[in-house]
Amino acid sequence: MVEHEGGASGRAELVTIGEFARLSRLSAKALRRYDELGLLRPALVDPVNGYRYYDRAQAETARLVAWLRRIGMPLARIAEVVALDDGAAAAEIRAYWARVEAETAARRELATFLADHLSAKENAGMSNGNRTGRGPATLGIRYAALAHPGAVRASQQDTAYAGARLLAVADGFGEGGAGASAAAVDALKPAARDAVDAADLLSVLHEAAESSARAVHDAVGGDGVPAESGTTLTALVWTGERLGLVHIGDSRAYVLRGGELFRITHDHTLVQSMIDDGSLTEEEAASHPQRAMLLRALAGGPEASASRPEVRLHDTLPGDRYLLCSDGLSAVVDEADVTRTVIAADGPDAAVSALVALAGDAGAPDNVSCVVADVVAL
Ligand code: MN
Repeated sequence: MVEHEGGASGRAELVTIGEFARLSRLSAKALRRYDELGLLRPALVDPVNGYRYYDRAQAETARLVAWLRRIGMPLARIAEVVALDDGAAAAEIRAYWARVEAETAARRELATFLADHLSAKENAGMSNGNRTGRGPATLGIRYAALAHPGAVRASQQDTAYAGARLLAVADGFGEGGAGASAAAVDALKPAARDAVDAADLLSVLHEAAESSARAVHDAVGGDGVPAESGTTLTALVWTGERLGLVHIGDSRAYVLRGGELFRITHDHTLVQSMIDDGSLTEEEAASHPQRAMLLRALAGGPEASASRPEVRLHDTLPGDRYLLCSDGLSAVVDEADVTRTVIAADGPDAAVSALVALAGDAGAPDNVSCVVADVVAL
């Protein structure tokens, strides 16, 4: 042990690298590496023999460096954090971790997609080998869309659209609601203009979701307005073999498969979040005074960029029938009645007419919009 007169910090107590390794519970090898990386310099390096000496007070910094490396923080950022006081370092670590989690969520989505995509390719290859003279089944969609103002509302703020590669409903709200729902759907159309390769679908969906959010924000007045006008958006982009879902708000998408209707979207509403955390039942939610309150939507205002549609991939089967609808249907007609009607309808045109009629029977207190699409083998 070497006693050494320190600088401004007063009397430093220098120890050998071996002793310091024991104090900081790190290996001498790790300490030499931190020195090389500029993360933790020894207090003194003997100019004659090159031996490193550390101040005992550096042990806390050494351990912090080790922990930050364990959470995967890049070296340059570690160097910044260890130079900060405790409060600022804590804030910096929280900010770093929030970004890691956001990036991990995006990468998780991509990893799931890639694994699905490759296993679908493998399955297609295997079934090709087993068949004689037939390629993979080619699928197409038959579709219909219908929007109705309802019996009570003076204006139509819903937008419904169905095309060969795009199905969408949007439910506008506020003074600019009609423009918002139209803008949200229009912004998706370029993404569906050309055939989308399954491998590009996720990127295409992300870009489409972004441009919808921007289009609505601009349509209702940009940053300078409060977020009082906006829209929901629930859309499916068809690639010829699978569907990409873009969704925000409380419009819904369902698939009828094997005689059962499954909802494939999650409402971004206050009551849905209460159902999720167990504080409300589905039955209670249906009559809750704030059942229409959205937690997420496309809107104007400075915070609009925080609300992006979620994007997901959905595997299709021949015979699937998809239903997209606004709450003008789902909030006023029992799901059992919707299911019966969707099953009974001969084709998409008959289905959307029958569904809008059902909402009419229930008084049609809101605009109602439906899109129905059948996945068929070509
Ligand atoms: Mn509505």
